[in-house]
Amino acid sequence: MTAAPIVVAPVIALNALLAFNLGTTAQREIDGVANEVLRITTSRLDDAATALIGLGMENAHDCSPASRAALSAASARVGAGSEVAVVDPTGAAICAAQGEPRVVTQVSPEHGALDADVALSVVSIGAASSQQMIRLQWRGDDGYGFRILIPSEDVFPYFLKSEFTPAFLAEAVMVDGAVIARKLTDPSLTKPDGSRLPAVKATAASQRYPMRINVATPGRALVEAHGALFLYANIGGFVLALVAAAIALIVGRRSGGPVREMHDAIRNREFVPYYQPVIDIVSGRLAGCEVLVRWIKPDGKLVPPGRFISLAEASGEIFPMTLALMEAARDDLGELYGERSQLKLGFNLFAGHFDDVAIVDDVERIFEGSQIRMTQLMFEVTERQPLQDIPRARLVIAKLQALGARVALDDVGTGHGGLSYLLKLGVDVMKMDKMFVDAIGTDRYSVAIVDSMVKLAEDMNLDLIAEGVETIEQVEYLRGKGVRMAQGYVFAPPLPASSFKLLVEAMAPIERRAKRAPAGRYVGAIRAAGA
Ligand code: C2E
Ligand code: CA
Ligand code: CA
Repeated sequence: MTAAPIVVAPVIALNALLAFNLGTTAQREIDGVANEVLRITTSRLDDAATALIGLGMENAHDCSPASRAALSAASARVGAGSEVAVVDPTGAAICAAQGEPRVVTQVSPEHGALDADVALSVVSIGAASSQQMIRLQWRGDDGYGFRILIPSEDVFPYFLKSEFTPAFLAEAVMVDGAVIARKLTDPSLTKPDGSRLPAVKATAASQRYPMRINVATPGRALVEAHGALFLYANIGGFVLALVAAAIALIVGRRSGGPVREMHDAIRNREFVPYYQPVIDIVSGRLAGCEVLVRWIKPDGKLVPPGRFISLAEASGEIFPMTLALMEAARDDLGELYGERSQLKLGFNLFAGHFDDVAIVDDVERIFEGSQIRMTQLMFEVTERQPLQDIPRARLVIAKLQALGARVALDDVGTGHGGLSYLLKLGVDVMKMDKMFVDAIGTDRYSVAIVDSMVKLAEDMNLDLIAEGVETIEQVEYLRGKGVRMAQGYVFAPPLPASSFKLLVEAMAPIERRAKRAPAGRYVGAIRAAGA
């Protein structure tokens, strides 16, 4: 009987220590996330402010063609989706880079930035005032000036990362409390205080702009990530911790949510690579393949990426998923590719991968020592999603190229970056979107776009791959224009490993003189240096 307190006391002390540690780790993580979000948001606003100031006083009054050209150049510098306009002393926009200035409704009052002559406010555009924009305005002494409109979501990082939990809520808020943008990484969560459990919160205020970033991880998310321990941290008591453990287990089993389901599926290797052949339409040979993910559920049901990729990206599960795919592709194709150095292997990366150089180490770790050479790898970055930090993306790309891999801009002509991404990112390959290939033989206007894309690739010395090629007529047209690479249903859909391997053996000759280049890294200067 007297022994009980002697046993229980150290257990309680140990648990309290663990709980305390967990609490401080969570706080540190969330502080880090808030600061990272602020860093990215501020750098985006800095770009916009620099573009405005760079326009200079002398352009302020007129709407001449030269001024409009300057406005266009400024909006291209800041990125697609932004509008630059001249404002008069009453604050009305009198002309814009592309046609009429947009009509805006003020959502929050204007507040000055601390170290520049720019002011920030939140506005909405459109009939139903549906789209929220950030308005950055610069004024000269005579009251004339420029404004730039940036879609709110564009200043927010595409992906928010925490080692501690994938689920949190982040918002950018003006000093007056008006919400600029809000992001929830796990749609199954609602509010930070939506559960009775305490949330971990952090705030990072900008030194320059009249705004701050708030980040919160709901108590529920922490319990999902760390079970009873965290609950115990907040409630205290060994018995309660045991009860909480039991509840978390039961609840967790019953309603893990889609993110948890995906998390478990990655561990169970349910995400598998399919391989779509890429054909050299001049020689008729197999040039390689693109890896396209499929979710094969335990009951055998095949789920296409359109159903889960967005959630994987928003929740961060895309990171372990991409690594698992690279490992699986390495294991599927190592031997066949080792004997055929002419074959290429392409992976899709999403915008968030280009915010962090970690992907470069991952690629190196996965493929070094494998039979697949770095020079056989290609990484695709889609133009459909905005890249948050162009200089950082350029650095990641340069580092992948320094390993020997190539980088492609995917879905060219459909998205945010367009020509500006081609100019800034230093990619090696352009992938022409299916939309333009579809137009071959139908729409004269779009064929002109195909022609100019071919010309652009030539002028920029980039390889071009046409996607979604479905008819012989399209193949002939593309070949006639000098396009060398194509993929699409006319050749093959994405194939499971077993079928693709048969195709490789049937179509791609083994190199007799297997002069295998060392898998080591290229040690020259990083291309696109200065990034
Ligand atoms: P994407 O990268 O543009 O891939 C091409 C898509 O077009 C694939 O759809 C492919 O199956 C489809 N396709 C190829 N040839 C034809 C054709 O001739 N006709 C038609 N109608 N479609 C064709 P899928 O596999 O459903 O993938 C959709 C998108 O999901 C991909 O578009 C890519 O953005 C994303 N995705 C797929 N796998 C991954 C991945 O591992 N990681 C990431 N981040 N995204 C992926
Ligand atoms: Ca792709
Ligand atoms: Ca594509």
